[in-house]
Amino acid sequence: MPKIKKISELVELMEKKEQIRNIGIIAHIDHGKTTMTDSLLAEAGLLSPTLAGQARALDYLEEEQKRGITIKMANISLLHEVGGRPYVINLIDTPGHVDFTGKVTRALRAIDGAVVVVDAVEEVMVQTETVTRQALEERVKPVLFINKIDRLIRELKLTPDQIQKKLARTIRSFNTLIDLYGDPDVRDKWKVSAEGGTVTFGSALHRWGFNIKMMQERGLKFSDILEFYKTGKWEKELSKLLPLHEAVLGMVVNNLPTPLEAQPFRIPKIWEGSMESDTGKAMADCNEGGPIVMCVNKVIVDPHAGVVCTGRVFSGTIHKGDEIYSISSRKKYRVQQVGIYMGAFRQPVDAVSAGNIAALLGLDDVRAGDTIVLPEYAKAMVPFERIKYVSEPVITIAIEPERPRDLPSLINAMHTLSVEDPNLVVTINQETGEYLLSGMGELHLEITCKWIRENFKIPIKTSSPTVVYRETITKTSPSFMGKSPNKHNKIWFEVEKLDGKVVGLIKSGEISELRSSKAMAKVLREEAGWPTLEARNVVGVSDHLDVLVDATKGAQYLREVMGSIRSAFHWICKEGPLAEERLREVKVRLIKVLLHEDPAHRGPAQMMPATRQAIFAALLSAEPTLLEPIYKIQVRIPPDQLGAVTGLVTSKRGAIVRVEQKGPIQFVTGHIPVAETLGLASEMRAATSGTAFWQLTFDHWARVPKSLEPKVVAQIRKRKGLPPEVPKAERYIVRE
Ligand code: GDP
Repeated sequence: MPKIKKISELVELMEKKEQIRNIGIIAHIDHGKTTMTDSLLAEAGLLSPTLAGQARALDYLEEEQKRGITIKMANISLLHEVGGRPYVINLIDTPGHVDFTGKVTRALRAIDGAVVVVDAVEEVMVQTETVTRQALEERVKPVLFINKIDRLIRELKLTPDQIQKKLARTIRSFNTLIDLYGDPDVRDKWKVSAEGGTVTFGSALHRWGFNIKMMQERGLKFSDILEFYKTGKWEKELSKLLPLHEAVLGMVVNNLPTPLEAQPFRIPKIWEGSMESDTGKAMADCNEGGPIVMCVNKVIVDPHAGVVCTGRVFSGTIHKGDEIYSISSRKKYRVQQVGIYMGAFRQPVDAVSAGNIAALLGLDDVRAGDTIVLPEYAKAMVPFERIKYVSEPVITIAIEPERPRDLPSLINAMHTLSVEDPNLVVTINQETGEYLLSGMGELHLEITCKWIRENFKIPIKTSSPTVVYRETITKTSPSFMGKSPNKHNKIWFEVEKLDGKVVGLIKSGEISELRSSKAMAKVLREEAGWPTLEARNVVGVSDHLDVLVDATKGAQYLREVMGSIRSAFHWICKEGPLAEERLREVKVRLIKVLLHEDPAHRGPAQMMPATRQAIFAALLSAEPTLLEPIYKIQVRIPPDQLGAVTGLVTSKRGAIVRVEQKGPIQFVTGHIPVAETLGLASEMRAATSGTAFWQLTFDHWARVPKSLEPKVVAQIRKRKGLPPEVPKAERYIVRE
């Protein structure tokens, strides 16, 4: 098989949609996804970025490795031949954790099929279930790779009979997942089986794999594999006799759908627009002559090329130089470069058409989840993801490099990761010099740290996780005055709880500092029923759902100091009065100002403290309260474990919302405070003898129970090095 294809051949191949597969590899952590991907990359047809040949391609790899950020994959394209026919297989990176927004997982949107990797020793685990379930819900067709067979042989020393039983059980439990979560139309067709060729067995570490057909073709039996291990010949011979890439990629080509087959089935599920619209029709047909629609599933920061947006083109053809529109960033861009992937590297080409994966340069503010269309479709297009407002991180850890000299690379790695993963927030605490990483859960952060250690090659130490809280108010305050340090300026504010309608509008991106005040005024009047004066004068919007409104009339010099007032507002939104946690859902109203006529006396150093003083007095008088994040917990268990699970959840301030029976299985849904879930995994295992499959997803913020609040506030203040007592409103109240 030719290891390297010329670009021209590849470009031709991309037009033949039956010869394309867009797939993902999904797995429970540590089941071997990375090892398998690396092995496929090393063994399968490497699509070289150079025309010159293999030597150059390998040089290129080596150089990447030296730079220490090897194969930071947004996508890997491999070439594989079956029956003399070449196929392009795009392996799109799928996160190893749940997309906690509960929305369609972005990466799953770009793929039509998935190889689910399961460790033969551990069998189907919690995340196997979670990721497979999500794939099925997005109509992604799964096939199964049972990995680490070598461990059954060498470590566990199982007999052939025991091995067979264990593998059969794994296949059965995998098919149970398809039964439970598969679309009724395809559920039966999609069940996997060894005989049907939809299960591959192997060892990613030792780079061999087989399906039944391969064994038959070669006249081999499973006992031969045992023999190879017994006689120590496996190392040299098995990977030659039964190459992993041939087994896995052969299974992919033969069993996973082409874009032409997948798009008409999947688009109605993953996209909310009308299938009768011209974009709807073009996407269902995978029409390269249709209007451009690309869904961005990954954004990476390349040290040389800058921001690289990778995604699936569902309709149309994107050329270099095209003018396109990004729906989330509401911006037009000119595409500076269009690339395809060859192996893990990008190769510029003239154009990329529907059904393929494209890498675009020049779209600097585009983020994962965005939808790219032609400018004339800016208004009419229904985006893949309507909500721009990303989910909220609920757990934080502090990170430190083991070797102080790695600090600059660590900072760089953390920033890169936060651009690439919209659910990750990086904060640098200037005062303590701490580097904080906030994410959606313990697992999310665990995977991120693994990534920093392995891909950026930075040894790090991490603190134990802490929960992220919010502050809000429960009453409307009277108006309070703030005085600038030089006593020449006075400013009055009041605060109230922000109405739910406006919260929704901020979440959907309708209300934001990026929008014109005219556009916002219209929405606030029409959709939230705000009076015209206030609707017209929104002067600040925080990412965490707070709004600053200018309710003054004819105030002199106000425009000139508004920048300082807005900065102070944002500062307060980041650090509330109770425990310096972020504010949420507060409306701040500027009532009145009296400003000094000389600009020199009303600079930021005067206006910011005055603003903070008045707003703090108002917040502290409006019954401030602490909010904690609450997870939705979903557990699947055999019926006899129901008591154990409900007991555990309720003992942790949780509540059971629903219990459903599906066949012999029970599904429990409930709510549980994030703070109670640190270390829940081992307790769940102990309580249910390891029979529970469960997942946690962020659900909502709720008030910390009154009886606990003082203790929690005190803990946070202590951790942050703040004085133990929450300041009283009086501290900020000044007389005229
Ligand atoms: P990921 O978290 O799914 O990406 O898992 P990794 O690929 O990082 O693998 C986790 C661990 O399992 C690593 O120590 C691998 O060396 C090991 N591993 C992966 N595949 C195999 C296999 O086929 N056999 C054995 N014995 N170990 C494996």
